[in-house]
Amino acid sequence: MRRLDEVTEVVLAPNPSPLTLEGTNTYLLGEPGTGEVVVVDPGPDLLAHRENLEAAVAGRDARVVAVVVTHAHADHAEAAGWACDWGVEVAAFTPALVGVEAAPLHDADRIARAGVTLEVLHTPGHSSDHVCLRVSETGAVLTGDHVLGRGTSVVAWPDGDMAAYLGSLRRLAGCGATALYPGHGPVRQDPAGTVAGYLAHRQQREEQIIDALTAGDATPGEVVTRVYAGTDPALHPAAERSVRAHLAKLVDDGRVVAVGTTGGRERFRVR
Ligand SMILES: [Zn+2]
Repeated sequence: MRRLDEVTEVVLAPNPSPLTLEGTNTYLLGEPGTGEVVVVDPGPDLLAHRENLEAAVAGRDARVVAVVVTHAHADHAEAAGWACDWGVEVAAFTPALVGVEAAPLHDADRIARAGVTLEVLHTPGHSSDHVCLRVSETGAVLTGDHVLGRGTSVVAWPDGDMAAYLGSLRRLAGCGATALYPGHGPVRQDPAGTVAGYLAHRQQREEQIIDALTAGDATPGEVVTRVYAGTDPALHPAAERSVRAHLAKLVDDGRVVAVGTTGGRERFRVR
């Protein structure tokens, strides 16, 4: 458990991997003295994580009053069922995607609990149901998998959508964040620079994909082999989903054409 500001602590889940970095960050939010905390992204359903989380809550002399998930991916929401044991409600943008009964969140909702106010920003792209949560009292934004503490995020096609992702990055840039608290990795203290870097990275990838198709690549897998040559091969399946998301956007933009399927693999060329 680590304190980030006057109302926020983070508990790191023991699920490290190339995609989850050091593990999932589970956030506890609450004004000290209220005896209440909101849990954001309970994380993976691992006993050691639950014990650490419950110890952190007890250490604040508090009880959990609500659970919110940024999106339904298992590394963020698998443990949503703990809310039932705690006797509280889970809130998610798309309740049907969470494995337990949940209340729906809507864009611009304000969740006022435990002496803090969380403003809901629907930020589709990484996944269709993704939300960021802006803490009114501090200006920090909990970014889930929209922006990570290190490196870049995956746009998990087909649920993920590149055009939506870029729009959601611009929205994050405009929300006046004082810091970004990601779902994985360390805090980002330079929100404007971070988001600008993410937008530039996506623009660069798009041009690299055009170059790869121009050089004769046709399938997403071929593009990944060329464009992600310097990246850990363990990340290539995730990279292929992002590339596929880029290709869908480029088709919509009229720069690339889908030319059918060979051996079960979709093929693309520049227009
Ligand atoms: Zn995710």
